Amino acid sequence: MRWLLAAVFCVLPIPGWAETVVLRVGTLLDGRGGTLHDARIVVEGARIVTVEVSGGTGRSAPPPGARVYDLSRLTALPGLIDVHVHPAWYFNPAGRLHTDDDGDSAAHGTLAAAGNAYATLLAGFTTVQSPGSRDDKELRDAIARGEIPGPRLLTSLDPLNEATGGPEELRKAVAQRKAEGADFIKIFASKSIREGGARTLSDAQLEAACGEARALGLRTLVHAHSPESIRAAVLAGCTQVEHGVFATDEVLRLMAERGTWFDPQCGLVFHNYLDNRPKYEGIGNYNEEGFRAMEKAIPLAVAAVRRALATAGLKVVYGTDAVAGAHGHNAEDLVCRVKEAGQPPRDAIASATSLAARSLGLADQIGAIAPGMQADLVAVEGDPSRDITAVRRVRFVMRAGRVYRND
Ligand SMILES: [Zn+2]
Repeated sequence: MRWLLAAVFCVLPIPGWAETVVLRVGTLLDGRGGTLHDARIVVEGARIVTVEVSGGTGRSAPPPGARVYDLSRLTALPGLIDVHVHPAWYFNPAGRLHTDDDGDSAAHGTLAAAGNAYATLLAGFTTVQSPGSRDDKELRDAIARGEIPGPRLLTSLDPLNEATGGPEELRKAVAQRKAEGADFIKIFASKSIREGGARTLSDAQLEAACGEARALGLRTLVHAHSPESIRAAVLAGCTQVEHGVFATDEVLRLMAERGTWFDPQCGLVFHNYLDNRPKYEGIGNYNEEGFRAMEKAIPLAVAAVRRALATAGLKVVYGTDAVAGAHGHNAEDLVCRVKEAGQPPRDAIASATSLAARSLGLADQIGAIAPGMQADLVAVEGDPSRDITAVRRVRFVMRAGRVYRND
């Protein structure tokens, strides 16, 4: 019994015990619009305890025994958040998009998803949201238990769509997802962009799904491209609209008025499909027509982001829709937001940090560098508030106080 207890104490944190880590950073972007130079961040266990200017009056020596990281030539920012990724999507050993009937082993699928999660973490993303796949649950829980490296993961499990059924079936499906451990609900209210993006769910279906989710305390993310599908989702009280390539100014204003979150993609998802065309071509709607639709969507998507950003009061969050081929490149849409859609770099960073955290209902835990917050921190070479491409040069990644990258 005694050796067993000793073994347990070797792996479990002893209550009250926490390693102290000090990060010296050249520039600090706090994720809420604030900047500090020559700052010192003190982390205990999984949390940030102090943030101060090194030369300031409150300066004190690092606590004895603290581990110190010198990031004085880098810029620190909160761990980035991508609210729309698909970690279960990968290319199989034949170099094609994995599908249920391609004969690939379950073990390979699991490892591929774990690899995608790790690549995403190394790229500076410490929290992601997946809408969604049944397989996310084990991935989410293994990461949360610290068994494998990856970003904090929220999942909808399997999404709902017109095939789920009428209002009654949709309500049941929402309750079932909740019972299965979903963090939120994903609903398809329009067709894919590759099939034109027309509306697929009625008002009654959307009201049932989003209403039931709200009653159970779950957020709803609604895939919607056409203005009709966006309007219906907003009026049904759904939480967030995804994609919206064909959003008109009228529905953008409606989202702003009703407080609906909007998650448009700037370019990574389309460029990734086109760059990896031979790996997707011939599977489902990845056909000639589908690729033509995605080529056409590239300028439309940038224009939609631009108009969304110009819509007063609209909460535009950061989600890339990263699929197979895009994992680990999640920061590319930040570059697109600034360089192509004209968003000020600080606002782009806020959309992927403090604003994204608010959209997840986690603003009191992640998305900012401040005392009491989870110690989710990245450091990049250069200052992304001046040159957004610095987000491509991640050199240091800490999640919940644990260092996963230190180049
Ligand atoms: Zn998606």
